[in-house]
Amino acid sequence: MVGTPIGNLGDMTFRAVEILKNSDSIACEDTRNARKLMERFEIKTKLFICHDHNEGQVASQIADSIEQGQTISLISDAGMPAISDPGFRVVRECRKRGIKVVPIPGPCAAITALAASGLPSDRFHFVGFLPPKKAARLRNFEALKDNESSLIFYESTHRILKFLDDAIEVFGKERWISMGRELTKLHETILTGTLGHVREELNTRSTKGEFVVIIAKKEYTL
Ligand code: SAM
Repeated sequence: MVGTPIGNLGDMTFRAVEILKNSDSIACEDTRNARKLMERFEIKTKLFICHDHNEGQVASQIADSIEQGQTISLISDAGMPAISDPGFRVVRECRKRGIKVVPIPGPCAAITALAASGLPSDRFHFVGFLPPKKAARLRNFEALKDNESSLIFYESTHRILKFLDDAIEVFGKERWISMGRELTKLHETILTGTLGHVREELNTRSTKGEFVVIIAKKEYTL
């Protein structure tokens, strides 16, 4: 399980490069994305696809190959595999069969955003992506409203404003949040403030890119 950068290729680890070079093959989400990484680090290992739609079948093929003596690496398009990305089913299959699984840690957007947020990091709850429909999003927010942890969400450029508007409906404008946009990239922006303040800021700022939103526990202020 090889972590890869979440934007800035400078975050690739020496160990990740070495392991990917020395594997028999690499399972990746998208060969075009993987090739960019491989070209940059001169990795020549052959690739095959493991994405959300075929992971169930590929998991047992990967486990079979490892049982036959091969070393297979698994990467996703960005960050740690299995974190809102394919990987979990492959690892579960390997663990079921008693196959050794080695994590090669790399960046993870959730942890990167939390570390720079100024919100409590001693206790957090990773939610990842919420369902796209408003009603389901509101239900999820309601269920999390009184949680005592910092809540970590992933969101896309298309839904970030709707996400914040719905969050205001449930948590109120005064709840503190931190929003990390395009982390490790050229347009990295980290805004920590009340929901109302951050939402207003976005009226005048770009909402392009990838987002992590962290919602603080009730009554927390900086
Ligand atoms: N496996 C990844 C990880 O370890 O963080 C997450 C992959 S998930 C499919 C993609 C989502 O992660 C994006 O929609 C965004 O919410 C978040 N994300 C990934 N890279 C990011 C970045 N550079 N800045 C902000 N959020 C990012």
